[in-house]
Amino acid sequence: MRCAIAYRSGQHHPQRLSTSDDDAGCRLPGCGRPAFKDEYGNVGQYCSQPHRRQAVRDGISEPCLRCRIWPKNILNDKISDFCSKACAMAVVDSAPAILEIFPNHEVYEQVHSQFTTQWKHPTATPTIMKVRLEALQRRV
Ligand SMILES: [Zn+2]
Ligand SMILES: [Zn+2]
Repeated sequence: MRCAIAYRSGQHHPQRLSTSDDDAGCRLPGCGRPAFKDEYGNVGQYCSQPHRRQAVRDGISEPCLRCRIWPKNILNDKISDFCSKACAMAVVDSAPAILEIFPNHEVYEQVHSQFTTQWKHPTATPTIMKVRLEALQRRV
């Protein structure tokens, strides 16, 4: 009991505003600034665009498989192959290229889930994208 009281009165950390582990801050060593939050409330891994680029140059984050400039994004606690929806969609747009580089089913799944989970418009996922993805799946 005494230990619990000592713990409570003594070395308790000040309460954090958020309980999420995503608020760990910029991952670039020595930075210490809070990580960037996008317009949808997703917390990034770094504080700023220059630090994202530097993280790739320093080998802290793996580069996006398409642009190779920005670090791979983290979606739902899983590391994605791309930095952004734009890059994931660009790869889908050039489906034959992705087959040459990544001839496995896992990548198809990632692109597909990335696209469907990140479609922010109130409309359904466009049919043309579904057709493309199905064509891609058949070829894998
Ligand atoms: Zn930073
Ligand atoms: Zn990219």
